[in-house]
Amino acid sequence: GNSTVGETAKLLHKDASEVIKKLIALGVMATINQELDIETILLLAGEFGVEVEVKIAVEDDRFETIEEVDEEADLLERPPVVTIMGHVDHGKTTLLDAIRSTNVSSGEAGGITQHIGAYQVEINSKKITFLDTPGHEAFTAMRARGAQLTDITIIVVAADDGVMPQTVEAVSHAKAAGLPIIVAVNKIDKPDADPDRVKQELTEHGLVPEEWGGDTIFVNVSAKQKIGLEGLLEMILLVAEVNEYKANPNKRARGLVIEAELDKSRGPVARVLVQHGTLKVGDAFVAGNCFGRIRAMVSDKGRRLKEAGPSTPVEITGLTEVPKAGDPFMVFEDERKARSIAEKRAITQRQSDLGVNTRVTLDDLFQHIKDGEMKELNVIIKGDVQGSVEALKGSLEKIEVEGVRVKIIHSGAGGITESDVILAAASNAIVIGFNVRPDPQTKATAEQEKVDIRLHRVIYSAIEEIEQAMKGMLDPVF
Ligand code: GDP
Repeated sequence: GNSTVGETAKLLHKDASEVIKKLIALGVMATINQELDIETILLLAGEFGVEVEVKIAVEDDRFETIEEVDEEADLLERPPVVTIMGHVDHGKTTLLDAIRSTNVSSGEAGGITQHIGAYQVEINSKKITFLDTPGHEAFTAMRARGAQLTDITIIVVAADDGVMPQTVEAVSHAKAAGLPIIVAVNKIDKPDADPDRVKQELTEHGLVPEEWGGDTIFVNVSAKQKIGLEGLLEMILLVAEVNEYKANPNKRARGLVIEAELDKSRGPVARVLVQHGTLKVGDAFVAGNCFGRIRAMVSDKGRRLKEAGPSTPVEITGLTEVPKAGDPFMVFEDERKARSIAEKRAITQRQSDLGVNTRVTLDDLFQHIKDGEMKELNVIIKGDVQGSVEALKGSLEKIEVEGVRVKIIHSGAGGITESDVILAAASNAIVIGFNVRPDPQTKATAEQEKVDIRLHRVIYSAIEEIEQAMKGMLDPVF
């Protein structure tokens, strides 16, 4: 967190002498190597009229770093990062493989394809990054850890099978993350393919095709026959153009760990996605509680890289330990600093593992509302039959207490699954089970993630419980 007077001067684009003068005016006697705390730096920035931003490097405010807000002119276009989700067997893996192989032929000489958790393709001389672990569970589990990797989600629906339970889950997960959705209607080569049915069914879940007056892009594809892939990629570029994904490539790199493992010959290996700045061989960095210096970087095409800019996935070696998927990584000015940050992080991590967690429960809901921290209570509803789920949903959505409303982020018929719990954890939601229960594994995950699950057999009692909780009138349960 702290920077010396000299470093602060650089950050603010001022001479050290100017900063020292200003400090004296503020009543602080300082030398060039003196460390300043965050408050003083912010104060100075205000005095000089320079905008700075406090970045929380970890989930924990003890390790803030101060960074300049990127000037609009420093922000350059970066490739969009895309995740593929959908029901099992609808063709996610086949589609990822097809997109990758179509593109490899277009002149990427040398190198052997490497699995590094993500890959890039190029179309119309623009790049797109695909995360190649399909599925919404992996996606939301990352999000539950505070890691936002993705810009756009592709929801794959098999045209011969239509919308299935995991399709609906995927839509809820993508919406909860606030991401744009493109629907890939797959398997259109099959004789019983019915793309219109898919459109019809998704409309019921709020994804209305453009030609029907909505704003969701639908693309017909066959992953197996490699039909429509180019059209899909063009639509991704279109969505990217509208959303203008940008990053500043000219600063120290920051990003997220996609996967990591201990390799027998190379030691700890991490596959990371660079999100800001440019990562270079030789950089000292922290990833989660681990630190290191980049020894080598390999691209998804198996080529050695010297540097990697925003939205580029790379495999790195040179770590001292194996970080976790979803860990943030960040480059520091030197290895000593990186090590000290990593060590401090390890300590706070142990502390927070022991400590409490801030997820909402019905018991403390009223406090959050009173403190003005909440405007919406996120709820997931699962029930034995669709009819009662809809009835409960309709009633809960009508509740309003002191300007706070209930928002149903996912609902469906069926038992409470781990996917529901992970979504709840990532979205700070509570789960209501109507005539259904979680299985033991799901229950264990809920306890670990501190997700509040409430089970009911009568619609009225579920509504009453939520209402009472919002009014702070819930009887404590012991
Ligand atoms: P995932 O579970 O969503 O990853 O689905 P997979 O990619 O494993 O595909 C499931 C099955 O559907 C496999 O047997 C694929 O060969 C088949 N499949 C995938 N895409 C297509 C397609 O476009 N047309 C046809 N006919 N079969 C497909």
